[in-house]
Amino acid sequence: MTRVAVVGAGTMGHGIAYVAALAGCDVTLTDSRADALPQARAKIDELIAGGVKRGKLTPEQGAVLAERVRVERDLNDALRGAGVVIEAVVEDLQIKQRLLGDVERVAAADALLASNTSSLSITDLAAGLKQPGRLVGMHFFNPVHVMKLVEIVTHERAAPGVTERAVAFARQLSKEPIVVKDSPGFASSRLGVVLGLEAMRMLEQGVASAEDIDKAMELGYNHPMGPLKLTDLVGLDVRLAIAEYLHATLKLPHYEPPVILREKVKRGELGKKSGKGFYSWSD
Ligand code: NAD
Repeated sequence: MTRVAVVGAGTMGHGIAYVAALAGCDVTLTDSRADALPQARAKIDELIAGGVKRGKLTPEQGAVLAERVRVERDLNDALRGAGVVIEAVVEDLQIKQRLLGDVERVAAADALLASNTSSLSITDLAAGLKQPGRLVGMHFFNPVHVMKLVEIVTHERAAPGVTERAVAFARQLSKEPIVVKDSPGFASSRLGVVLGLEAMRMLEQGVASAEDIDKAMELGYNHPMGPLKLTDLVGLDVRLAIAEYLHATLKLPHYEPPVILREKVKRGELGKKSGKGFYSWSD
């Protein structure tokens, strides 16, 4: 069984930890923010309880799963013995580079190092490492236990076999991997963000309500969820950071973040995680 360390215990980190545990891995989850770990633990316990309630897990399996996930504040302790390390901290190049440098120093020499970045260049993230070839992108989707896709992002300096290892690990987690060359937004964000930003511009211009814009895509295009609701789930702050990055790198006007997005983020309306985004989530 693979021992997995997940660094960053937010929306994505706790979900990745849960699916790795479901796949039989021993998982350690770590975060630099003191209250992140109890919150992540509670969310994982909720996921397990939900699985038991829906009959997907027996209470005994639930108890085994809970045992498999350990939260650990100290990075060194969290990474000890890990064969796979997945970074899922905030979408900020400098923070991720600094963290990955620390991870490389502490992790076992043969551990696979993966970043869950939604949009940052894996080549840039790897540039600060002593062995850039160890890093690969493993882009999971939210909610991790529901979404089948993992984008494996490969780059020119990737060491032989690293991409294949990431593909195999994604399959071990019962995910469907696709392999994408390192380029801004990879395949998913580059396409998906355009739709979300355009939906926000339509809302700004009073073209239709948030509900009706979402319904247009859900019922007219058979999308399981409209772009504004999806943005609420992803987090408006996360979407803003991705849009800013794509706008700066691809230099295309359709990636410019709309005013409504900037204002909502400034007001702390970050989507489901803060209780309000384009929708109210308080109930
Ligand atoms: P989040 O804000 O919910 O969680 C990020 C966590 O990282 C926080 O708990 C924070 O305390 C922690 N952190 C920050 N700096 C750290 C450090 N140096 N060491 C340890 N922990 C640190 O964010 P999220 O939505 O989980 O996103 C995490 C990553 O996953 C980002 O790169 C994002 O682009 C990517 N991603 C997000 C989604 C999504 O739908 N939210 C989907 C796919 C990928």
